[in-house]
Parts: sequence; C-alpha cells; structure tokens
Amino acid sequence: MVEKRTPLPVAEAVKKVVAQAFSIGAETVDLEESYGRILAEPIIASSDVPPFDRSPYDGFAIRSIDSVGATGDNRIAFKVIDHIGAGEVSSKKLQAFEAVRIMTGAQLPKEADAVVMFEQTQETGEGITIRKPFLPLENVSLQGEDLRKDEVVIESGSFINPGTIALLATFGYSQILVAKQPTVGILSTGTELLAVEDDLVPGKIRNSNGPMIVAQLKRMGLHCKMYGMSIDNLDESYRVVKKAAEETDCLITTGGVSVGDFDFLPAIYEKLGAQVLFNKVAMRPGSVTTVAVANGRFLFGLSGNPSACFTGFELFARPALLKMMGAQKLYMPHTKAVLGEDFKKANPFTRFIRAIYDGKTVSPAGFNKSNAVSSIARGNALIVLPGGSRGYQIGDTVDVLLLGSEEGAARWQL
Ligand code: AMP
Ligand code: MG
Repeated sequence: MVEKRTPLPVAEAVKKVVAQAFSIGAETVDLEESYGRILAEPIIASSDVPPFDRSPYDGFAIRSIDSVGATGDNRIAFKVIDHIGAGEVSSKKLQAFEAVRIMTGAQLPKEADAVVMFEQTQETGEGITIRKPFLPLENVSLQGEDLRKDEVVIESGSFINPGTIALLATFGYSQILVAKQPTVGILSTGTELLAVEDDLVPGKIRNSNGPMIVAQLKRMGLHCKMYGMSIDNLDESYRVVKKAAEETDCLITTGGVSVGDFDFLPAIYEKLGAQVLFNKVAMRPGSVTTVAVANGRFLFGLSGNPSACFTGFELFARPALLKMMGAQKLYMPHTKAVLGEDFKKANPFTRFIRAIYDGKTVSPAGFNKSNAVSSIARGNALIVLPGGSRGYQIGDTVDVLLLGSEEGAARWQL
C-alpha cells in the first residue's frame, strides 16, 4: 500500500526547518579568511574615524580668519611655509597669513581650520592668493565624523561583506570571532547514476545533483564532505547514510525519497530513529522533499529530479545552514515583477519556476519540468505562483525570489 502523506504549506515547512537549526559555536579566524562568515562578536570602534582632522583635497591649509574679506578685487596673499603629503605631519606652527601646502589625507596643522583647493588659488613667487573667504572647518574632514571611538559599529550576527572587512581592518582586528560553519555531507542515491567522467550507457545518467549541491554550498561559503553515490539498496544506503549522519552536522541526500519501489530513504529514516519534520510539501517541483533530524543532525532528503533538488536546497537547506552559520538573514530576497510571458499551467500547489529576472520583468527560464536541468542553469530567480491559482498571463504581477545574493533577507515574505 502506498503511504499517504499530508502536504505541508511551504511557509510552514520553512518555519519547521529553521526552528530546528542552531548555531554551532564560534571560532577565531584571520581577517583574510573572514569574508562571507558571520560575526560572533560586535565590531567596536577602537578609535575615531578619521583618527585626526585631515584634508579631503590637495590644496593649502590656512587659518580661516585670515581669509575674511577676500574678493576678486581684493585677493589675500598667504606665504607657504611647509609642504606635506598623506602620512606626514607638519612640524611648523602656522602664523597669520601663512599656509601649508597639503595633500589629500594629510593631517591638518593644529592652527589651520580650512583647506583651499588648488583650483581656488593663484600661485605667487612665495605663496598663493585667494579670492574668497573660507568658513571655519570649510573643506576639513573632521576627526570622528564617520565613526566615534567605542561605538558599536556592526552588530554580532551580521554577514561579513567587503565593507565589514574594511571596518575590521580600520580598527585593527587582524583576527575576528565568527560563527562556526556546519559540516555538510552530500550523498547522491540512485542505481542509474554514473560519475561525471563515465561514458553514457543505456538506462544510466550522470550524477548532476551532487556537483550542483557542492556549488550551491560553495555559493554560501561552505565546503562539504562527499559521500559519493549509492545504489538503491536499503542496506548499502543505510550504512552510508548512518556513517555520514554521524560525521556531519547536516547530510544532504538526493533521490530515493518518493514512494517508488526503490526509494529507500523513508525506511532509512525509520531505521535511524530520525524525527521526520515533513515528507511532503505543497509545492512543485519537489513535493516529496523530506527533512528529518537524527541526534541533532539534519537529514535533507531532496528529490532526485534536478529542478526539485535545486529548489529544495534553496528553500530549506540554505536557511537552515545559514542559521547554523549564525546568520540572521536566512531567506532569499523577495521582490515582485511583471510576468514576461503567459504561464498557463494550473497550480494545485505553490509553484517555483526557475526564471530570468531583469530587474523589471521575469520569465520562465525554459523547459519547465521537475526533471529539467537547463532552466536551472539559465535562471537567476524563482517565480512563485500560489497554490490554487489557474495560470497567469503576460503582464501579471508575480512574486519573485532572487537566487545567489551574497546576503539574504531577514524575513520569509511569502
Ligand atoms: P528519485 O528522486 O530518486 O525518484 O529520482 C527522480 C529522478 O531524478 C529520476 O529520473 C532520477 O533518474 C533523477 N535523478 C536522481 N538522482 C539524480 C542525480 N544525482 N543527478 C541527476 N538526476 C538524478
Ligand atoms: Mg531514485
């Protein structure tokens, strides 16, 4: 008898998975290794930024008071007494009607409070003349104008992007505490599977899901442990799954979660005593996507159909792994867009269509069945059509989830 499964709405399934995901501690890494990791401590400003008043231009540092009354007819002359570049500090004490020739980034002499740009001056034999008055602090980049010492600049739990790295470097963090990354295993199941380098033989196909998931993990900055391929045999698959589940925080399998005669994952979960969070989701493709937990480790049972496998990873594995990585923004960014072509199929379940989004319109990325490979490669987004809808027309506004963003969104929006 075929087992009856109750489909769970996608949003509930996402919620269930995320609720089971926990951060797995923190570790210290070198700054150069920290891109893409999640901060496990706040970044505190160890100094003002900038740390001193400085010139934002190449020009002349003056005392603004000396410029009062300058006009085109009454140019005021300054004697240039020193010349400094960025990194240098003038040792001269600026007196009335004196200027220091100063380059961008150089510290302002103590007595100076304004900078005259080159193009606002005329050079004379021993200095410059100017034709307008300067206000106190005009053209001065003030100490602490960007950030103040001791302020919390970035909260713990934030994604480390290139700008975060710049801040960490600014404040002298050569090492930084980040959330640990989960160990993820990948196992592709199916007697029909060949290795990538194998020649095609009748009835067999090459394993594309395994390498695809490696790349999906890599896009999140995660490495994985490969458990290769296993044939559809209960004992053999059980042995590999058990071992892999013990050695990893999260095992992703592909194939074998449906109700076919050779789909052994449900029996394996049972034998492992795993808690199955769900084994049917009200979505296409990938309705058989199964997520279980055994001894605090995740078991993601993704469909073998490539599009379903891809979508199942992005919808469920990705937010769970991000949460384990300590992230707060777990979800694909959501937007709305205008459908670029008709989509006539009815949607009994929520439908996720691999699609091309150009910032305004979104169109299916070609062949659209759960076993499609081509549309995964061509797409950069997923169109989401709600369950119970009858088909959509060109020009309709639809929900879109964006794939491949460096950092996700804090809320699940659908
Ligand atoms: P399954 O989920 O095991 O019922 O497999 C569903 C479909 O996906 C079948 O047509 C399989 O041949 C195909 N498939 C399963 N595993 C893979 C894989 N690793 N790479 C590509 N296709 C696969
Ligand atoms: Mg199979």
